[in-house]
This record gives sequence, structure tokens and C-alpha cells, in this order.
Amino acid sequence: MNVHDHPPAREDHAEIREAIRKLCADFPGAYWRSLDAERAYPGEFVKALTAAGYLAALIPEPYGGSGLPLSAAAAILEEIHHSGCNGAACHAQMYIMGALLRHGSEAQKQAWLPKIAAGELRLQAFGVTEPTSGTDTSSIKTFAARDGDHYVVNGQKIWTSRAEHSDLMLLLARTAPKEKARKRTEGLSLFLLDMRAARTAGLTIRPIRTMMNHATTEVFLDNVRVPAANLIGEEGRGFRYVLSGMNAERILIAAECIGDAKWFIDRASAYARDRHVFGRPIGQNQGIQFPIAKAYAQMRGAALMVHEAAARFETGADCGAEANMAKLLGAEAAWAAAESCIQTFGGFGFAEDYDVERKYRETRLYQVAPISTNLILSYIAEHVLGMPRSY
Ligand SMILES: Cc1cc2nc3c(=O)[nH]c(=O)nc-3n(C[C@H](O)[C@H](O)[C@H](O)COP(=O)(O)OP(=O)(O)OC[C@H]3O[C@@H](n4cnc5c(N)ncnc54)[C@H](O)[C@@H]3O)c2cc1C
Repeated sequence: MNVHDHPPAREDHAEIREAIRKLCADFPGAYWRSLDAERAYPGEFVKALTAAGYLAALIPEPYGGSGLPLSAAAAILEEIHHSGCNGAACHAQMYIMGALLRHGSEAQKQAWLPKIAAGELRLQAFGVTEPTSGTDTSSIKTFAARDGDHYVVNGQKIWTSRAEHSDLMLLLARTAPKEKARKRTEGLSLFLLDMRAARTAGLTIRPIRTMMNHATTEVFLDNVRVPAANLIGEEGRGFRYVLSGMNAERILIAAECIGDAKWFIDRASAYARDRHVFGRPIGQNQGIQFPIAKAYAQMRGAALMVHEAAARFETGADCGAEANMAKLLGAEAAWAAAESCIQTFGGFGFAEDYDVERKYRETRLYQVAPISTNLILSYIAEHVLGMPRSY
């Protein structure tokens, strides 16, 4: 019996899950290990997901996508991670386009979404974070100055993941100085930057090597010209547009964490049953059982919050608190499962061939990005519990 075969609390998208498991079977641990060693991009995996239409799951049918609900996208990413694969190479393509979908003009949607859905154009890069602003997005310095029918963009982004493997970037930049804005969140604007043209006209992308294989970069913008037609929504309202997409991002990342937790729990419990030391399975010792059992309970609790957040998102209800809590609980459950797994494997947990150390490195990220645990706790304290803002 699969320990995860429990009756679903809500729509579980069983067929999609099964199809993802089949697709992922073509990308076993050895595939990810060799890429990890070279810090190379999983191009074949992303190609297979794109060809099967999964990255266009959330794009509405009239624009060439399959118009599935967020819970289906969550199921896709959860199964990718449960299978030992890594959705970080392409997950943003699923949700970044939400800003274009919700706030773009009809002409922009017609121009870009069908090509993104067909895989002709990759929208994988999301340029928000800057080296000096960190989590305080309202302090970003990258500036887009209007010049006729263009904007001229100067500045620097950091941690712009997948920029080298994307044609387009959703770029947040200042269009009015912070001092002149009525509110700190005003004066920021959102652009669709065509990186294909910009690469020879002021855009420089430098990879950052990290502890896991993540294809992240720093990006320099030196007088990059962006057509005014690529401004999304109204000038000065970009911060709101970015915020409105963050709930979807948090729910989907939380789903990846659930998948990671399941992968670790499967591996740990199987190893604990099979590995014999002192003439009996190590899984007979409660010191081994309990951390795995506890991580399982944490994972199930976090999964309920992911379902709750996705269900609220799908009905259009406010889901800020649930999306944040899903991300927090999911990341913590994945980490608890990772800890229990590496401890259960003993020395073998550190051997690359078992994939445990790789997944361990990969899942640690989610307590920091795309939003760190502290900032989620601050959100709950302020917005749910009515305590004063701490920063
Ligand atoms: C591998 C990777 C990929 C990423 N991909 C992208 C991407 O594609 N696009 C993008 O725009 N960004 C991306 N990021 C950036 C990511 O969103 C940020 O790293 C994250 O939001 C934290 O910001 P920071 O690193 O600047 O930390 P800082 O803001 O400098 O914070 C450092 C620490 O201080 C804590 N802290 C800060 N302020 C407070 C406070 N008021 N109260 C309590 N604690 C506080 C934080 O919780 C954190 O632990 C990525 C980051 C990584 C590492």
C-alpha cells in the first residue's frame, strides 16, 4: 500500500497525478544527479512538460491553455516533487503569466499568451528582488524612465531565476521616485521585457552558483529600451499587480513542499523497514520511527492548508492568510521530512547516489524563497492577529 493513498479531502486530480508520475518516470535520479553535478538546466524535462501542456495549465482555453484551476497546477507540481524531480526549473511559467492575464490589455494577452501556451515563448523569469532592497520590495531602485514610446530601464536585479532559459521577463521597476509617491507601494510599474532583443542592447545576465541546481542569476540593465506597449496595466500600480499574484505562487510552492515531504517520507520509511542493524530493522526503533511519523503528520496538516488555500483562491475569496500559512507549514513539513530522511539513512544519506542529499539541499530553499518564514509570521501577526506592524 502506498502510504499516501488516503481518501482526498477535496478534488485530487487523480488522472493528472497519474500522468505526471508517468512523465517523471523518464527522468529518474540519475538524470537529476548528472545535471546537479554540472549545475545544468533540465532542458529535456522542461521540454516534456511543455509539450504535454502542463506549463500552460492555468492559461485560459481561449488563449491556448487548458484553463485548469489552481488546485490542478498544485497537483502537477506536487507530483513532480513527489517523483523526485524538481519543478523549480519551470514552475514560474505557470503563475507569472497571471499578472498579464489579470492586468494586461486584451491586445497584450492576444499577443503573448497563445505563444507562451504553445511553448513558442518562455516566460520563466520574474525580476523583483534587488541586492540592496531585499524583502523590502518598495525600496527597489531599478528605474524605468519614459522616453517617447519607450521606457529606458537602468538598474540591477538579483536572484532572477531561469533568466538564461527564458525569452521574457516580468520586470518590476520604479517609474516615480519613492520620495514623490504618496504611499511607499506606489510608483512601481510592471513590464514584460523581451530579453531576446535586450540581450544585445544593454541586458547582461550572470549566473549565480548556489548550493543546489537552480539556474539563478543576477541581471544588469543598462539603458535597456522597453516599448511602452509592454507596460502591464497602469503605470505606478505594479506593486499591487505583483502582490495579487503572490498568493498563487505561495500555494504552488507549498504544493512542491508537500511533494518533497512525501518523497522523503517514502524513502525514509522504506529504508527504515529494509536496513538491518543489530539484527533487526532500524525502523523498529522508535528513535527512527518517531521523526518520520511526525513529519508525516506535519505534511498531512500542511496539505490540508494547501487545499484550503487553493479552494479559497478558486472561488475568488481572500486567501492571503491561507496561502502564507500553506507556504510556511509546507516548507516546515518538507524540512522535517528531509531531516528525518537524512538521519534515517545514516552515512548513506550523504552519498550522492541515494538522491537524499540533493533533495535535502533543494528543499531547504523554501524557508527563504520566494518569501522567508519570518515575513510570513509577520504577515499573520499583523493581518490576521491585528498586532502592530514590526517593520
Ligand atoms: C535560489 C533563489 C531563487 C530566487 N528566485 C527569485 C526570482 O526568480 N525572482 C525574484 O525576484 N527573487 C528571487 N529570489 C529572491 C527571494 O525571494 C529572496 O531571497 C527572499 O525574498 C529573501 O530576500 P533577501 O534574500 O533579500 O533577504 P533579506 O530581505 O535581506 O532578509 C534576510 C533575512 O532577514 C529576515 N528579515 C528581513 N526583514 C525582516 C523583518 N522585518 N522581520 C523579521 N525578519 C526579517 C528575512 O526573513 C531573512 O531571513 C530567489 C532567492 C533564491 C535564494
